[in-house]
Amino acid sequence: MQHLTEALARPLDYVEVIEAIVRASSQAVTARAGALFELNLDAASFHVACAINYPDDLIQEVDSFAASDLPHSSGEVVILDAAGTAGDSAALRALRSIPGTHLLLPLSAADELIGVLALSLGTDRRILPNELGFIRAIARQSAVALERARLYQRERQARREAEFARARLEETLDAISDQHFVCDAQGRYVRFNRAARDFFRRNGYDPDELIDKVIWDEFPRLVGGPMHQAVQRALREGIPVAFDARSRYTNSWYEGHAYPVSEGIAVYARDVTERRQAEEVTQFLADASAALAQSLEPDLAVAEISRGLVPAFADLSAVFVRGDDGKIRPVAFAGDAHVVQRLWEKERRRPIATIPSHPVHLALEQGTSILVDDVSRESITRLIPEEPRIADLALELGVTSMLYVPLIARGRTLGVLAAATRNERRRFTPRDREVAEEIARRSAIHLDNARLFAAAERARAEAERASQAKSDFLAVMSHELRTPLNAIAGYTELLELGLRGPVNEQQIEDLRRVRQSQRHLLGLINELLNFARLDAGGVRFEIHDIPVAPCVAATLSLIEPQMRARGLRCDADAIDGTLLVHADAEKLRQILLNLFSNAVKYTATGGRVAIQADTDEERVRLLVSDTGVGIPADKLETIFEPFVQVNRTLSTVNDGVGLGLAISRDLARAMGGDLTVESQLGRGSTFAVHLRRVHASAENTLAR
Ligand code: ADP
Repeated sequence: MQHLTEALARPLDYVEVIEAIVRASSQAVTARAGALFELNLDAASFHVACAINYPDDLIQEVDSFAASDLPHSSGEVVILDAAGTAGDSAALRALRSIPGTHLLLPLSAADELIGVLALSLGTDRRILPNELGFIRAIARQSAVALERARLYQRERQARREAEFARARLEETLDAISDQHFVCDAQGRYVRFNRAARDFFRRNGYDPDELIDKVIWDEFPRLVGGPMHQAVQRALREGIPVAFDARSRYTNSWYEGHAYPVSEGIAVYARDVTERRQAEEVTQFLADASAALAQSLEPDLAVAEISRGLVPAFADLSAVFVRGDDGKIRPVAFAGDAHVVQRLWEKERRRPIATIPSHPVHLALEQGTSILVDDVSRESITRLIPEEPRIADLALELGVTSMLYVPLIARGRTLGVLAAATRNERRRFTPRDREVAEEIARRSAIHLDNARLFAAAERARAEAERASQAKSDFLAVMSHELRTPLNAIAGYTELLELGLRGPVNEQQIEDLRRVRQSQRHLLGLINELLNFARLDAGGVRFEIHDIPVAPCVAATLSLIEPQMRARGLRCDADAIDGTLLVHADAEKLRQILLNLFSNAVKYTATGGRVAIQADTDEERVRLLVSDTGVGIPADKLETIFEPFVQVNRTLSTVNDGVGLGLAISRDLARAMGGDLTVESQLGRGSTFAVHLRRVHASAENTLAR
């Protein structure tokens, strides 16, 4: 018994324990063969856990059998001998095929059957009652050992499973592209997933060395930031806390969570830089567009673009633009003030235009962007061999990477957008280059628009200046001409009246011609002056709701003597006295007088001149028609232009200079109306003055 106890106490491993059970108990009862049938988890069947000295085929036969096959329900030792009546089953028959007495020892733990130990004595031996106590003791010892082995095995299994689960988890965490790490309550790194390890390696840290180091000591710039706050709060309150942070060490954006875990805090962070950059670019472009819409000044636009890049996209930015002389020069720098100042100094000392291999020129000429992601003395010197001081400057300013992107709009390269990083841990990537290209593409459109707008503005201002100069000139000249003309009139009259002595008939006739020419000239000059004033915006309008009839009547009374003199008939329809228009009465009379004068001028004796009003709800058209020479179709528009006359030849001496219609149309339009013409060559013309009609309502009357 003591031997058995010792034999069962030694081994720990399940297989060794069950083997020890079978061997030691076989030895204890001097059995030839022994086997341990272990109850399966289902408690409905057995399997052979260990068999010693049984023939292989027998073991194979009974490898697994139903629990009911063994008579163990009593919990008592069963003895199968020649005279035994202990039931009949395949398992028992198999055992009995081996001669001699067999013992079946039920093994129980906590009153539960866990197995059956079979011991075959090999001889027909009767088991004496006093032996039974010993056999029961063997069963008890074996049961304890088996239970211990089973527990041990289960514990090992559980541990294996836990390890497996952990490995699986780690594998999963390693497979994700998001960063995951665990730190303890003091912030010491416990472990990282692969993405986190890669991230540290990329940024010059050895992740293995970081283990056990406190995050906040290693990366003090994180203290107080969103991730730090999230970790602290998750620790304090034991809840998961989300954070959203821009890295203070790299050019990246993170969205993540800090989760309380048994070891401390698990941090999960996703790099959302691309999305954020896209958002920032969109925002930047929206801001830039808004700013550009406010001022369409190209230089301001450029400065705006440059400023917008810092610090969201770069630490330093510049815009280079090709000037009118074809030379490229910087027009805006943005970044830290002292750096910007250094760059301007450098440009004064050694302009970029004089450094042909500068990447600005390359980007400009090739029309493609250039990324220098490894700024060092060697890389810069290789790029720009003729100006070693550029490498000095780049290193002095701590530049780590540079981007040069051409600004192309409508197929023309306007300039180059340049950006640089100055942060040791941050460099432009090919992805940044794409972003910069998109920014450049849109900026170029803005810049182009701003330039076009500026050019249009310049052209307009120039045209305005020219027009103003012309008007000023005309005004001055008209005035300067009128003074001596008045003098001519005065002195001629003096002579005519004989105040300077007697004048004969012929001289009087000559003086009359002088006076006539003077009047004509004065008329022309007045017209010129009128037009100049109108063109220069110097004419004041007093627009009211006025009745049409009195205006027409007043004009007709002025022109009728001329018509009579020319032998023309005048048909004037009676115009409704209540017809009101929105106009300046004096200007309307001027227009009508001009139209009537022309009608008289261009209609031969015997012809007819007419005036009538054509009205609808909103408009009044005053039609001045004649049966005169008419106007060729191709001249119908040009006659409204200043100084245009249809039959102007040097030989024809005509009244007027071709300004009457130009003035009249301007006046009509200034009153919200128009002046148009219809004509048939040789048959006559009809000019229509369009005016805005008003209705005499109580309100109108009151208003007036
Ligand atoms: P002006 O009469 O001083 O030459 P206007 O501007 O009044 O200048 O007219 C421009 C030209 O239009 C005239 O020279 C003439 O050829 C043509 N024209 C104007 N009114 C008539 C008309 N009623 N019939 C035929 N031609 C006309």
